[in-house]
Parts: sequence; structure tokens; C-alpha cells
Amino acid sequence: MGRKFFVGGNWKCNGTFDEVKKIVKILNEGQVPSQDVVEVVVSPPYVFLPVVKSSLRPDFHVAAQNCWVKKGGAFTGEVSAEMLVNLEVPWVILGHSERRLILGESNEFVADKVAYALAQGLKVIACVGETLEQRESGSTVEVVAAQTKAIAAKVSDWTNVVLAYEPVWAIGTGKVASPAQAQEVHFELRKWLQANVSPEVAATTRIIYGGSVNGANSKELAGQPDVDGFLVGGASLKPEFIDIIKSAE
Ligand code: PEP
Repeated sequence: MGRKFFVGGNWKCNGTFDEVKKIVKILNEGQVPSQDVVEVVVSPPYVFLPVVKSSLRPDFHVAAQNCWVKKGGAFTGEVSAEMLVNLEVPWVILGHSERRLILGESNEFVADKVAYALAQGLKVIACVGETLEQRESGSTVEVVAAQTKAIAAKVSDWTNVVLAYEPVWAIGTGKVASPAQAQEVHFELRKWLQANVSPEVAATTRIIYGGSVNGANSKELAGQPDVDGFLVGGASLKPEFIDIIKSAE
């Protein structure tokens, strides 16, 4: 099937210029498997994107953490997909739960962003995931399927999409999903893609896990058949991010 392992680092709204330079140094000195084995993408805050892009080793790439839903213009505070393309930023994270829940981004709005960013030539890490309340009420699969369905309604070519399953209850909490819990949802998402998009998209789309991944738990999670990599928050700011990348082997 050949789904290359993918490790994304989401730095969120963290870091000073000096801290960013230190993280880049750690990444640049890290011994990791080759690009044939693992694709690594780090996502600094917008203001640090140019410096990270220009100082980062060439086998690692950068992502923005968000972009505007349509062509730029009179949208104060926003950054457009066109600007990212212009700066040669290849990737963007869209639909992160912090944006869905804190900033009120709906499934449809996220889907519009995904479609627009792809149309401009960006590659997209599209995030889905349930809250603790939704998990406890037994609606996990229904929730992630609805989030994915909204995207599928607006996207026909999935080549440049990585789907990130990030249970909200596991993000930044230290409460990681067990390998079995992650595998179960990834399997259901792949099954959903198979039935509702196509067997080929289901077989080739990378579904990565995010939520309190660290250097100690990544190897076992990576061993699950439908876990094709990670989106890492807190640990992507630390040297253990290198260990997480190594779990691709
Ligand atoms: C994230 O924010 O995408 C994330 C997975 O965070 P953490 O690894 O800190 O839980």
C-alpha cells in the first residue's frame, strides 16, 4: 500500500525567537530515518515560518497552523493560502480542535478551508476528533465520520490530504489514547473512506494520531496497522520529538 509514515510537530502558539532557534538546532542535529521512510513536517507560529523554513534541514518541511477560508483581502488578522504558497510553505494544518472549539470553526467551515487550501496547491493536515463527552456517550465514530464527511463533500482529490485523528480529551492532557483505542478509530475512519470516497483513497490516505504522543508511547502506537504517523504538540518542542520520528522504523 505504501503509506509513508508521517510525523508532524505542532508548535501551537509557543516559542520566542531564541527558543525557536534552539528547537531547529535540535532537529537539525537529530539522527532520523531517511525521507524514504518518514515524512517530517513542523508547524511553527506564522511569524517564525520564514526563519524556520530557511534554517531547517532540507529533509524536514514546514506547515502553517491555519489559513483563511478564501482569497485574501479585507480579513484583518488572517493569513491566506496564497501567501503560504508565495512563501513556499508546502503544508497547512486545518481543523485543529483548538480552532474548532475555542474559535468556533464548524465542520463546514473547516471543509471549505481544506478545499480552498488544496485548490491553491497546499498540502493539508486535516484534524478530526471527539470530545470526552462525545466519547463517553458512545458517539466517537459518528463525530469523526461527520467531520470527515464534511471534508469529503468538498474535496475530490485526497492525494494531498493527511487525516489527523486527535481525540480532544487526549490533547495536551498527558492522557494518550491506548494503541487499541487509536487503532479502532483509525480503522473506522479508513472503513468510512472506503465506503464513502473510494477503496483507493482509503488505502492510500495517511491517518495519523495526535494526543499526548511522546517518546515513550510512540513506538507501540506506531505499530498499529492503521496508524500512519503522528501529529505531536507538546513533545514536538522537546528533544524527544526525534525519538518519535524514529518510531517510523
Ligand atoms: C496537538 O495539539 O495537535 C497535540 C496532539 O497536542 P499534544 O501532543 O500536546 O497532546
